[in-house]
Amino acid sequence: MEKVLVTGGAGFIGSHFVKRILRADDVAKVTVLDALTYAGHAENLGKAFLSPKLRFVHGNIIDVKLVDDLVQQHTAIVHFAAESHVDRSFFAASTFLSTNVLGTQTLADAAMRYGIKRFVHVSTDEVYGPLAEGAATEEAPVRPTVPYAASKAASDFVALSYFHTYDVPVCVTRSSNNYGPYQHPEKIIPLFVTRLFQGDNVAIHGQGQHVRNWLHVEDNCAGIELVLRGGVPGEVYNIGGGTDLTTVELTGNLLRMCGADWDSVVYVSDRRSNDIRYSMNWDKIATQLGYRPARVFEDGLAAAVEWYQRNPDRWAPLLRNPCAPIPRAEIAVAVEEAARVVH
Ligand code: NAD
Repeated sequence: MEKVLVTGGAGFIGSHFVKRILRADDVAKVTVLDALTYAGHAENLGKAFLSPKLRFVHGNIIDVKLVDDLVQQHTAIVHFAAESHVDRSFFAASTFLSTNVLGTQTLADAAMRYGIKRFVHVSTDEVYGPLAEGAATEEAPVRPTVPYAASKAASDFVALSYFHTYDVPVCVTRSSNNYGPYQHPEKIIPLFVTRLFQGDNVAIHGQGQHVRNWLHVEDNCAGIELVLRGGVPGEVYNIGGGTDLTTVELTGNLLRMCGADWDSVVYVSDRRSNDIRYSMNWDKIATQLGYRPARVFEDGLAAAVEWYQRNPDRWAPLLRNPCAPIPRAEIAVAVEEAARVVH
């Protein structure tokens, strides 16, 4: 039976993954290690706390002793914890380097010492940098342009170096832009949706011609689970969705779904290093591990928009103060009592 340590499991993607992996019969125990930064909320795990398999540890991945203690109690690591917002990396690069690079090295070091059987390091298509045309395979050169992407690229290499040097069974996943419920409203889809619901304008950088690939968070988690179970150690797996959109095209969809029009849109000067286009080829995970994104973009986006509409308590406090705690009232008392938060 697998015992899985999930770092960053109180964040957007990590919390979806924890809920998914808890349902697996062959997983006996799931421990979340999360520092609960502004981006992490134990509440994202909601009823998962009712599972006797789940344990929550509030702590930092660069805490060597804590990481050592935890890693030796597990057979697998799925590593989501990171500073994840590009814009923040422009003014807090050292935090990105510390968490994303040193944090990954701390985990890989412990994985080496305690003979971890599987280690999935979760990364991003942004490490490949902008591509005017074509799509990056896993063999493509890594050319990050912003501190966030540079820190993720460095962390990918650190993780893989522990495979090459010490045989730690590391796999790296690189996914495109995720969307879905529970995402922090600093990211473009929840940012636009929540602003439109409040009657505010949304801002498009430059001409809005930047192209991103959109992947439902559940599809990413399905791909990560395939890699956890069947990935070949030392390999990188790209995980993409079926939909490439410019910012203008994405905005058009969101305006329609939120009942707003183009009067709500303002154009502002472009962000620095705003990569014009990311594109990945994900044939490898499809052919080798049977990955297929299951969500139709329009349906997945409409469901996500509806979730934000139904759950203003989840995001309104974060719009006023990005570090605000989310009110706990919506979580059943039973869930609260079941939460085993270890400090
Ligand atoms: P997120 O910002 O929502 O969550 C990050 C989580 O990590 C939070 O719960 C936070 O508290 C925790 N954390 C941060 N620093 C920590 C530390 N030092 N120790 C312990 N926990 C810490 O991020 P996300 O969007 O869920 O992304 C998860 C992973 O997926 C990241 O590695 C990110 O680079 C990668 N990724 C994200 C996307 C995307 O579209 N969101 C796309 C590709 C890859």
